Amino acid sequence: MNPVLALARPEILALEPYGHASWEPELERLHANELPWRAPADHSAAGLNRYPEPQPRGLIAQLAALYGVRPGCVLAGRGSDEAIDLLVRAFCRAGQDAVLICPPTFGMYAVAARIQGATVVEVPLRTDFSLDADAVLSACGPQVKLVFLCSPNNPTGNLLDVSAVLDLAGALAARALVVLDEAYIEFAGAPSATVEIERHPNLVVLRTLSKAHGLAGARCGALIAHEEIVALLRRIIPPYALPALTVEAACAALTPAQLAVTATHVETVRCERERLATGLAATNQVLRVWPSASNFLLVEFRDPGRALAAARGARLLLRDVRSQRGLARCVRITVGTPEQNMRLLRALGGEPS
Ligand SMILES: *Cc1c(COP(=O)(O)O)cnc(C)c1O
Repeated sequence: MNPVLALARPEILALEPYGHASWEPELERLHANELPWRAPADHSAAGLNRYPEPQPRGLIAQLAALYGVRPGCVLAGRGSDEAIDLLVRAFCRAGQDAVLICPPTFGMYAVAARIQGATVVEVPLRTDFSLDADAVLSACGPQVKLVFLCSPNNPTGNLLDVSAVLDLAGALAARALVVLDEAYIEFAGAPSATVEIERHPNLVVLRTLSKAHGLAGARCGALIAHEEIVALLRRIIPPYALPALTVEAACAALTPAQLAVTATHVETVRCERERLATGLAATNQVLRVWPSASNFLLVEFRDPGRALAAARGARLLLRDVRSQRGLARCVRITVGTPEQNMRLLRALGGEPS
């Protein structure tokens, strides 16, 4: 048995999961109290009058191939957000357990923990936004069940040192799960850690179709981990979590032809990211553009309020991240189309190159 399972809440380990209607597509369905006719204007392939297949085998197989793991190591859910929520609910007892985060980082880890009543332990990234693995390790008391790391990190844009992350996973082996959120890894030109789950039974990698694959509205993400962790989480994910339309959109996006289109989008974003960074750095309003391995830039402005307003004047919405630790004068800017990026540079008083 994976020793990490012993960290799960005892109630979850003992839980009798909901027995959803069995999936036997070769038979006609008189077992799920569905209507036998489609709703008007239902043009879906599956028929929305039918409950969807839980953890659809076709989609799971495509995701497993995409991420280079076995299908049993993939849990599909409504975005990484659902995976984060499931992890916290499965491993943290309210009022007793804790998650560890490294701010400034993605806000959902702390929100999911607080909803569950878990404590949030903070170990800030260093001033260059690199991971302080020693500090994380010493802050990992017995109450810490999950360590959330994000690479490339949102909102700072940098990759974490993957060998430091893996060493940390090794050091925490049976004590805590290390959850590595790779929502933006496609833009980094760096390898994903999904292949490392074989060697690290306490490593969980989060991937999503929301960013590089352009499917934020479909809500589909994947949790990649040791089979026994995935099996545990399959017991608590809502029985028909993935809507049929989401499954159809995701499967269609993961064909070889569509993946080739995705690759060109990623390449365009990477080129535009460098052009935008250079253009921003050349304006006198910008103090610093942080290097980015993602599809956004963290930018420190002389007067961030003025920059946000100037962008609004050009009908462009930027993300104000000034309230986050260490980001007092920073704004997060998503790389847009070449036209949008040019419009932004003009609004900020820069010369598009
Ligand atoms: C956008 C983002 C996600 C993706 O969340 P989904 O629920 O999959 O849309 C996950 N993690 C981080 C850090 C993000 O910025």
